[in-house]
Amino acid sequence: MTDGGPTFLHVDMDAFFASVEQQDHQELRGRPVVVGAPSDQRGVVAAASYEARTFGIHSAMPSRTAYQKCPHAVFLPVNMSRYKEVSRCIMRIFESYTPLVQPLSIDEAFLDVSGAGHLFGDGETIARKIRQNIRNQTGLTASVGVAPNMFLAKIASDMNKPDGLTIVPRDQKAIEQFLAPLPIQRMWGVGKVTRKKLHSLGLKTIGDLQLCDPLILTQAIGAHAAEGFIRLAQGIDSRGIETESPEKSISNETTFRKDTTDLDAIEAAFKRLVDKVGFRLREAGAFASTVHIKIRWSDFSTISRQIRLDKPCNDDITLREQALILVRENLRHRPVRLIGFGASQLAHTDASSTLQLDFLETANTETHEKRKRLSQTSDQIKKRFGSQSIRRGSDIK
Ligand SMILES: [Mg+2]
Repeated sequence: MTDGGPTFLHVDMDAFFASVEQQDHQELRGRPVVVGAPSDQRGVVAAASYEARTFGIHSAMPSRTAYQKCPHAVFLPVNMSRYKEVSRCIMRIFESYTPLVQPLSIDEAFLDVSGAGHLFGDGETIARKIRQNIRNQTGLTASVGVAPNMFLAKIASDMNKPDGLTIVPRDQKAIEQFLAPLPIQRMWGVGKVTRKKLHSLGLKTIGDLQLCDPLILTQAIGAHAAEGFIRLAQGIDSRGIETESPEKSISNETTFRKDTTDLDAIEAAFKRLVDKVGFRLREAGAFASTVHIKIRWSDFSTISRQIRLDKPCNDDITLREQALILVRENLRHRPVRLIGFGASQLAHTDASSTLQLDFLETANTETHEKRKRLSQTSDQIKKRFGSQSIRRGSDIK
């Protein structure tokens, strides 16, 4: 995983609720712990510790059944506010590595770390660091899958639970071999009904699906589903992270009317995007700690790269400088179709105001102040005369 291609992590806490209880209450460690409805009432198990699982107890099982299987287990009510607290701590760890975090539930999330390589190392290194951070800060273990896409990362995180780290290779052949032995229900979208249908065709593993005739599959489940499953069976998944809260980042993108390799045109378009994002940041009173760019080439392959700023900022000049560093590092002599720029890890305090007392920072602070005033002036003009009314000197050729 060192070639800098798309890299996703799926991080999943092990037996989360039960593990939090065992961490908080030392006397529960090593004992079967069942979190959920009381054992003498109707209701189900929310989580079972690994010790309880050896008795055949699992989540969603009726608590009464769990009690029959293991009467000496410790049954605890759900303490959601405590689990949320630990969850916030874990999510903050994720966000310290990448702004592209998509939580799936209280205890698992997808992370796109494709652009984090030059800051923190490759996917495997980041996964190790995150597991260590989680252990240090919460005492808990997490299982992590590292892969070139989200589907594979999710499958991988489940392969060596608990406390597992699974790296999926990038090589297409190796990916297919990795998937082949797994039962088809491990694929997204395969519920009970689909599983029965696929089984009736003799398709039990993902490997069976890799080898099956697409026509037969299409007749059985329809073209749309067949196409989706065939792609997944090959380990192909082109989805990206969906960040939940729009205020967490501000971004903009633009598609060229015609795909272009013209460096000047691409850079000029980036500058316009940056200024728009900068304007919106200042309107929101927000300062960004990370900026990222996106480049999509004519063949629709897409990269995103990010850079962490020395301190949070929202002035156009600093944002442009950082964006152009990323652009120049990543442009190839290939026609570009679409570009995007975004700012994330937003805070609402100006770091410069707290640095005024630091003499070493004085020079930087002066530059910062100058840049801030320039941006403010251009905002006032934009508001009066519209966004097309102003161009910085460097835009005019
Ligand atoms: Mg979990």
